[in-house]
Amino acid sequence: MSLTIGVDVGGTKVAAGVVDEQGRILEKLRRPTPSTDPEETAGAIADLVGRLKAEHRDVVAVGLGAAGFVDESRSVVLFAPNLAWRDEPIKDKVEQRVGLPVVVENDANAMAWGEARFGAGRGERYLVCITLGTGIGGGIIVDGRLYRGRYGIGAEFGHIRVVPDGRRCGCGNRGCWEQYASGNALAHEARDLARVNPGWAARMIELSGGSPEVITGLAVSQAAREGDPAALECFQSVAEWTGQGMADLAATLDPGAFIIGGGLSAVADLLLEPIKKAFANAVTGHGHRRLADVRVAELGPDAGIVGAADLARQ
Ligand SMILES: [Zn+2]
Repeated sequence: MSLTIGVDVGGTKVAAGVVDEQGRILEKLRRPTPSTDPEETAGAIADLVGRLKAEHRDVVAVGLGAAGFVDESRSVVLFAPNLAWRDEPIKDKVEQRVGLPVVVENDANAMAWGEARFGAGRGERYLVCITLGTGIGGGIIVDGRLYRGRYGIGAEFGHIRVVPDGRRCGCGNRGCWEQYASGNALAHEARDLARVNPGWAARMIELSGGSPEVITGLAVSQAAREGDPAALECFQSVAEWTGQGMADLAATLDPGAFIIGGGLSAVADLLLEPIKKAFANAVTGHGHRRLADVRVAELGPDAGIVGAADLARQ
């Protein structure tokens, strides 16, 4: 049986796992990312791969998933916002260090592939994966294949503009979808609410140590779990924006299922039903078409490792 290694390269940590043909992780290692120096980042990846390879002799290839733009040849990271990678030839660098073939993939694409093959998307050939974390990551599966676009950087739908002259986004534009439907959006919504109506937002402010300015998504989630109506109102807003954006994507892509992953999927019990409702309300042609399923991701934080490892096998 052939084994591959999947690596999830984040801004703060690198996680790597040996994965078998059924998508099972046999062993996993992690270490902090030396994110400011490209050579040290490559060295950290090679270190983890080398240690795993020493224990598992049958490893035949490596898949790297990283947050950023990956070129169409899947070898160069053009730009990674959380790392010092600019036109970084990471495939060559890691191959030289570890002596195994390496493929590079955008992290959200890797997660989408993992879910499509072994998680919530099993058996469905048309999928849209939405990773609701600090921002929105996206992955599209068309006819059972990962859709990457002509230049490798498709499915960045967190930056579709949904509000003209809306909230500022890290990408330089205003009104991007991820400013209204993500973990950061949840906190943003709560802080806005707390500023104009601190009495109504009292529980979220209390959970954040007394200041409306530092309310986190975690505090909103905790308050919502307690039934706090102000927190639930923030969840409702994020769910409505998520469903609206999904309706727009369905107008173009008509998937069989949406898979919701990322940090916010941990509070799927609070989000899933309102998202489904908002999606059904917003989708064009409702009543005259089959609606895409809306499912929660199944592989959790390991989806990127499993997906990258499987892409290395393809
Ligand atoms: Zn943006």
